[in-house]
Amino acid sequence: MVVTRFAPSPTGYLHIGGLRTALFSYLWAKKNGGKFVLRIEDTDKARNSQEAADAILKAFSWLGLDHDGEITYQSQRDDIYAKYIKQLLDEGKAYKCYMSKEELTELRETQMANKERTKYNGKYRDFDGTPPAGVEPVIRIKAPVTGEILVKDGVKGDVSFQAEDILDDFVIARADGSPTYNFVVAIDDALMGINEVIRGDDHLSNTPKQIVVYEALGFELPKFYHVPMIHNSQGKKLSKRDGATDVMAYKDMGYTPQALLNFLVRLGWSHGDQEIFSMDEMKNLFNPQDINKSASIYNTEKLDWLSSHYIKNTKNDELAQLLTEYGLVLTSHDKREILLDELKERAKTLKDLADLTNEILATPHSYDAKASKKAFKEGFSDVLNTFASKLTAADSEDLHLPVDYHNIMETVVNEMEIGFGKIGQPLRVALLGKMSGPGLDSVMAIIGKDETLLRIKNAIAANS
Ligand code: GLU
Repeated sequence: MVVTRFAPSPTGYLHIGGLRTALFSYLWAKKNGGKFVLRIEDTDKARNSQEAADAILKAFSWLGLDHDGEITYQSQRDDIYAKYIKQLLDEGKAYKCYMSKEELTELRETQMANKERTKYNGKYRDFDGTPPAGVEPVIRIKAPVTGEILVKDGVKGDVSFQAEDILDDFVIARADGSPTYNFVVAIDDALMGINEVIRGDDHLSNTPKQIVVYEALGFELPKFYHVPMIHNSQGKKLSKRDGATDVMAYKDMGYTPQALLNFLVRLGWSHGDQEIFSMDEMKNLFNPQDINKSASIYNTEKLDWLSSHYIKNTKNDELAQLLTEYGLVLTSHDKREILLDELKERAKTLKDLADLTNEILATPHSYDAKASKKAFKEGFSDVLNTFASKLTAADSEDLHLPVDYHNIMETVVNEMEIGFGKIGQPLRVALLGKMSGPGLDSVMAIIGKDETLLRIKNAIAANS
């Protein structure tokens, strides 16, 4: 069974790079009928917080990416890590190192001055003398001194590391007994049965160290996939400056989970030329072997394009539900269907949809100066009054659809022998306060007869 995981460090919000690897891991587990588990890597007490862990979980729940089983918190597993530290010490695969901070600094400085790679010199690796007094030892693992460590990566192919270039006997437990990052990650992945690790390629340099731990403990290695980073349009690593990187900011901007996940799955993975993927399609088609070898480029236009695609193609009931979650409650609006049919074609995001809706539903209290100048020219009130009297005379029972209002406009145009613009422009500015916006007949059908008449009256009063 395929078991994948997402293992965020709760130092801040969930960023979209992290979400993308989580999505890849989720999809791959689901495709294989396997498990996707969540592990919170909260061992760094100074930098981790419960709020950050909660924020990450909140983002997952918004996106509907359900994890399997209980969440594992590294901070609750000290006993487990201690047991393996002891085991390695007992087996002679790890040892206590009594080098003082000063000694270590001096060693580093000498190595730097000689332009050598800075690394521990193995002083206590085979030490059997009397330890110096007053130094709490750290625990170091006996890493291979020569030879090759091969990372068989599903994205990058075989990546070979020379032990002498990258390894030293790295610390697995600090002087206070707390275990270090690469040590606990390897133990957790092994004990949690993770057999496919999909993560950002910024972790590739950690992998040989983790392999040393796997091998020292006799654990079976998982399959690794290191996913290239997401870059901005200048080819640099994506940063806050490139826009929102906090996943929840996308919610605030009015993107739906579906649009965001579809956007992310295509950052670094493709299936032919296909751009639109339902969740089921993603689950059926995703394969980490198809992850691109090069970095992907973040492109806001693409996200907007996907977002408007989904808004256009979402049923009105569901859209109303999404809008409610976004803070715009339309459930009781009797013209909801007309409203959403009209606006979903024009909105890129739920925010657009909410803004456009509010623009229609709110009675204008002022009129855009440029638009008024153009629309409220001499004689405009005659046209609007004629329209208003025909509307007043019409039976409310016959006024439901945009076409019902359109017919009245047409009658006015024919009777007064004027062009459509002569009624369209003043009516538009009267109803919306500006020249742009959706179809007027739809606007009137949405706000209804009385509100239409009120807005016409207001506009004539304010502009005559
Ligand atoms: N906790 C690490 C991070 O947030 C991820 C570790 C891993 O995926 O192996 O970057």
